[in-house]
Amino acid sequence: MRFRRTITLTALTALTVVAVAPPPAYARRADPPKSPTAVGYGGAVTTVDATATAVGLDVLRRGGNAVDAAVAAAATLGVTEPFSAGIGGGGFFVHYDARTGTVRTLDGREAAPAAMRADSLVDPATGAPYAFAAARVSGLSAGVPGTLATWEEALRRWGSRPLGTLLAPAAAVAQRGFVIDGTFRSQVSENAAAFGQFDSTAALYLPGGQPPAVGTVLRNPDLADTYRLVARHGTGAFYRGPIARDIVDTVQRPPVAASRVGAWPHPIRPGGMTLADLADYRVRSPEPTRSRYRGLDVYGMSTPSSGGVAVGEALNILERFDLSRMPRTGALHHYLEASALAFADRNRYVGDGTPQRVVRELLTDRFAADRACRIDASAALDKPVAPGVPDGSYGGCASARAGSAEQPEHGTTNLTVADRWGNIVQYTLTIEATGGNAMVVPGRGFLLNNELTDFSFAPTQGDAADPNLPGPGKRPRSSMSPTIVLAQGRPLLALGTPGGATIITTVLQVLVNRIDLGMTLPEALAAPRASQRNAAMAQAEPGFVADPAASGLDALGHRFAPTAELGAATALEFLPDGRVVAAAEPTRRGGGAAAVVRAAGM
Ligand code: GLU
Repeated sequence: MRFRRTITLTALTALTVVAVAPPPAYARRADPPKSPTAVGYGGAVTTVDATATAVGLDVLRRGGNAVDAAVAAAATLGVTEPFSAGIGGGGFFVHYDARTGTVRTLDGREAAPAAMRADSLVDPATGAPYAFAAARVSGLSAGVPGTLATWEEALRRWGSRPLGTLLAPAAAVAQRGFVIDGTFRSQVSENAAAFGQFDSTAALYLPGGQPPAVGTVLRNPDLADTYRLVARHGTGAFYRGPIARDIVDTVQRPPVAASRVGAWPHPIRPGGMTLADLADYRVRSPEPTRSRYRGLDVYGMSTPSSGGVAVGEALNILERFDLSRMPRTGALHHYLEASALAFADRNRYVGDGTPQRVVRELLTDRFAADRACRIDASAALDKPVAPGVPDGSYGGCASARAGSAEQPEHGTTNLTVADRWGNIVQYTLTIEATGGNAMVVPGRGFLLNNELTDFSFAPTQGDAADPNLPGPGKRPRSSMSPTIVLAQGRPLLALGTPGGATIITTVLQVLVNRIDLGMTLPEALAAPRASQRNAAMAQAEPGFVADPAASGLDALGHRFAPTAELGAATALEFLPDGRVVAAAEPTRRGGGAAAVVRAAGM
């Protein structure tokens, strides 16, 4: 049985008035109603967490817009999903403006400090790249956080409420506490050794040296204070004030515990982030990527994310085949092959600073046609496949070797919001690994990210340049794929998911399920997933391996490594009659929470 952390809706309404109630005298509260699907009017919110969804919905009900609700929900996720989201991390915020009909994006990705060098993730003692765990749990991995700056910029451009007001419900949840569920406890258990190295983290998440018990209430008054400080003094308190000093201290002198709980096999290295790095942080606003797919316009996130390019290229490849008329095995075969080809190109060409002409060329139909010629309907390609050459002259298939596949991470979360005016926010935010770099900033109640481990630790592309080597001020390549789809200029779909590099394939698979394979949006989310990222083995959920189509895929030469779960998506669909379908996961990560302002039948 899975439990979710929740507080009652009645309690929430009280919380939004900011009154700080005393800590609850009881350990359990009733779950509010939570559903993975909702249909209706007047606005919609979908997140992985019932409390965050309820906070967002409350903002919409009180007349706030989609951006206001997204910020309030994201701030709440920073409390209740602290190992996936928070002001110690970053993310990508995609906005559809109903008045102008335009899609705009904010890049709030964490930035490398000015001191970062191409070989900063190589151990000078051995000349070899650090082990992932050694780099993750260190000051070296922490990028300059972009999340608060993203909220501020989104509100400045499109919001209708002050940041301070929108932080209040989350501060109240942090102050009063929330109920620990099975997912939360297992995330702490998996991180117990890393969390046990730091007094500040152990005090919050390992009470009595153990992960908190399911059903108990966890309070985070330090985070409540941090949110209130920002509410009073603005984001300057974070980027230039007392919180900045505490972040820099934590990175430069990790708060290693005198008596550590559990063993940790790696030295805990400091990082080079300075006050100037924090003061210099800026949100960027790149042009969204755009690809046409079966008459629809698919908008995604451009560099430093590879999401928009990889999803867009794979769709352009798939558009050359009529998936809807193929047997299921054939459609899935093409989905897996297009994913592998797009990953080869993403690995070779996409990073922070990739020239826009290269991004554009990777998204042309001519390039997709060249790549599609590699797909053989009767046999899977040997993986890894080589990247193509996006130079505008396409005579045949290239033959260089592709990079290696990456491990999935899960320190990320997604939320999708629409308001009564038709504005949409599709926001994916992260601290990278589940639990980030494992350091709670002492006295501040939030974890730092380990986003800089998304850089290549050492060159991965043989003789070719690696676009994702670290550098001063550079942002590590992401796979986050917040996506908004328009049909004839009007919203049709908005979706995103966590899952490290599997984000790209999950967003692609949900789109194919919905657009080509005749599934409803809730079915498209629930369907079993597989992720082929240009490696010999594709990852596949048990339900995918058990699908009768999978034996056909085996016969074509696909190989699957079973994995329990891929992603934790949220999505909205806008129906022609004005209703919105809000969808979250029915079971993955314990199930998500979708809600609409005014319910109506499906
Ligand atoms: N750090 C990853 C990225 O930006 C996301 C991690 C995750 O989804 O769990 O691509």
